[in-house]
Amino acid sequence: MQQLVFATQNEHKVLEINRLLADIDGLDTYEVLSLSACGIDEDIPETAGTIEGNARQKASFIHKKYGFNCFSEDTGLEVEALNQAPGIFSARYAGPQKRSEDNIKKLLKELSGQENRRARFRTVICLILDKREHIFEGIIKGKISETPAGESGFGYDPVFIPEGFLSSFAQMDLTQKNQISHRSVAFSKMIDFLRSQK
Ligand code: IMP
Repeated sequence: MQQLVFATQNEHKVLEINRLLADIDGLDTYEVLSLSACGIDEDIPETAGTIEGNARQKASFIHKKYGFNCFSEDTGLEVEALNQAPGIFSARYAGPQKRSEDNIKKLLKELSGQENRRARFRTVICLILDKREHIFEGIIKGKISETPAGESGFGYDPVFIPEGFLSSFAQMDLTQKNQISHRSVAFSKMIDFLRSQK
C-alpha cells in the first residue's frame, strides 16, 4: 500500500477525501494520511498569490522537507460582482482570525443590493508523486444567497447555492456535497490519474 500525505491542517478536507476514497472501488493501493497523522503540526506557507501557486507551494514544501509522496489543494471562492474576490483571501477575507461567520457577514455586506450574485468555488490540487508534479482543477458554479442557511459543512457553505439546486451547501449532507463539489471534481481527476498509474 502506497502512502500519500494530504498537506492540509483542515480536518474537514481530510474527512471529505477519505469519504470520497471510501466510495471508490479498486483504489486500495493508496492510503491517505493527514499531516497530523504524520505528527506534523506546523503551518505550511501559502504566499504564492494565486490558487495554483499556493497549491504547488504547499505540496512542494511538504515533499522537500519530509520526502513524502503528497498532495495539497487550495480553494478560493470567486464572486463575479467582486472581481473574483475573495479568491486567495477566502479564509481571511474579514481578517486574520479566519472566522467563517465574519467572512460571510462581510461577503453579504459587499453584495448588498447587488443583483449579480454569481460565484464559483475553484479548487486546484497539486500532486507530487515519485518527484513529479501533477495539477488537477475542479470548479462548481453557483450563487451567493441573501441569507445564510444550513448547519453542515464549513466556510462559505451556508451562503453558497450550487447551480441547479435550491439549497445551500450547508443544507446538504456530505455525500450530497461530495457528488458535486469543486473539491470532489478535482479529487476525482486526481483519483482517475492514480488509477491510471496502477
Ligand atoms: P483553503 O485555503 O483551500 O483552505 O480555502 C480557503 C477558504 O475557502 C476556506 O477557509 C473556506 O473559507 C473557503 N472554502 C474552501 N472550500 C470550501 C467549501 O467546500 N465550502 C465552503 N467554503 C470553502
